[in-house]
Amino acid sequence: MSKLRDELTRKPLRISGYVNGAFTEPKAVEEMPVIDPTTEQRVATLYESSAHEVDRAVLSARAAFDKGPWGRATVAERQAALMAIHDAILAHADELAMLETINTGIPLSQTRAVHIPRAAYNFRFFGEYINQSGGDVFTQEPGLMSIVTFEPIGVCALIGPWNMPLGLTAMKIAGALAFGNACVVKPSELTPLTVTRLFEIIAGVLPHGVMNLVNGRGQVTGTALVSHPGIDMVSFTGGTVTGAAILGTLAKGIKGSAMELGGKSANIVFADADFDRAIDAALMSSFMNNGQMCLAGSRIFVERSIADRFVDTFTRRVKALRIGDPTLQGTEIGPMINHAQRERMARYAQSGLAEGATLLAGGERYSKVNAGYYFEPTAMLAPTNALSICQEEIFGPFAAIQVFDDEEEVIGRANDSDFGLVGYVWTQDLQRSMRTASALRTGTVLVNTPIVRDLRTGFGGYKQSGLGREGAKGSQAMFTEMKTTIIAREPRSMPRLGLAEA
Ligand code: NDP
Repeated sequence: MSKLRDELTRKPLRISGYVNGAFTEPKAVEEMPVIDPTTEQRVATLYESSAHEVDRAVLSARAAFDKGPWGRATVAERQAALMAIHDAILAHADELAMLETINTGIPLSQTRAVHIPRAAYNFRFFGEYINQSGGDVFTQEPGLMSIVTFEPIGVCALIGPWNMPLGLTAMKIAGALAFGNACVVKPSELTPLTVTRLFEIIAGVLPHGVMNLVNGRGQVTGTALVSHPGIDMVSFTGGTVTGAAILGTLAKGIKGSAMELGGKSANIVFADADFDRAIDAALMSSFMNNGQMCLAGSRIFVERSIADRFVDTFTRRVKALRIGDPTLQGTEIGPMINHAQRERMARYAQSGLAEGATLLAGGERYSKVNAGYYFEPTAMLAPTNALSICQEEIFGPFAAIQVFDDEEEVIGRANDSDFGLVGYVWTQDLQRSMRTASALRTGTVLVNTPIVRDLRTGFGGYKQSGLGREGAKGSQAMFTEMKTTIIAREPRSMPRLGLAEA
């Protein structure tokens, strides 16, 4: 594998846009380095898509949607294209996983086992789904037939984050294409490698202009994209502050959106839980993906009677996490995405202590390496849910544990959050699990299981965690317009106006 790493990084890659079936000529309007967070070295040069290039990309998508064959493609044709993309991703899985690890610092074991297969599966899932999904017909009213159909919305702007660049963006692309749309994709400027490579490996699968790419900073390329009058909607995954700014822009044009935003998910462990599994899951949902997960269950609530044992075991395991080069087998924690993210971790470690939390593990920059934005996986015991480390999304390997005494109390504390993405519940008591699941104000509740993503269901958040849901029907709602056609099956009486004699 390290041979593959050497091959992929021997010469810095060139990252540009892809418009109307061809990569754009890199122009040095604005160029910026793409950094490998493990080595802190440049692995690619990004040539930023200017507002002019964004305009070309949107117009290309517009033309493909309004005049091209894709909007009229049969389900079988769309399925064939989606399966071709699925197959291409799997055929390049080793390379894509390594590129993702080089660009994000997320352990290769995880990009290879989770990110890339999941990216591919999105295309297969939506290909299969569109064969089954349909509309509604209502015939109860005599003489009338009301037909509800779902039609492509048009040109979708798809904006992805840096923490699972290909996997999360692939979900948007697959959903948008499956329902017959054209799109313009913008990855994070920090992590453009795999999404850009996807455009190379699927060249020729789709008609020109159906799928376009712009690369660059959110403030420049992203702003130009979301404010372009030629787009019909934005599907965005990222931070809450950015999401709110995009919503403000879209409001001016009355454009639709789907927002997958931040989280601060509660992970509730009752005393009767399967202890070992609850510990494993708490570690996984706090530290997988270097802790940089929207659905991290890192706000952990433990019932008092098992709290000492839980805290001791959890702390020991956090200290034993293997930190290192994410491309090496066995590494469990790689570097943070960049210097700013590492500083953010340090700030939260300091604020936790200042606000009264107890440090259990970590809390410092990891110093046993010569390079890389490493931070020690950190755990703190928090006296209340009011601390910043319990209220704000840290987006790194950082767990905050609280102790609780009863069910009602813990539900109140779990819901005491601006976010509402996921809730985790660990108990052997079926009725308690049902009560707690229904009381949690989150878009997803996971009972006795760590992270599971089931595309047949919707994923998204209550409160500031987002708007809309991704997956099956949620994606259909996001990427289609619902149209109602009402047909009179026989003449119906109606008021006859204007018949008065003059
Ligand atoms: P950001 O909000 O910083 O960025 C997300 C994307 O938006 C990037 O491509 C970014 O580009 C772009 N962007 C930034 N500003 C603008 C703008 N004004 N107009 C248009 N686009 C813009 O999020 P991060 O990339 O830092 O991702 C982390 C966040 O994502 C966390 O809060 C996390 O919880 C959330 N997330 C949510 C998920 C969910 O499903 N709910 C899943 C995964 C992550 P650039 O980076 O180039 O500036």
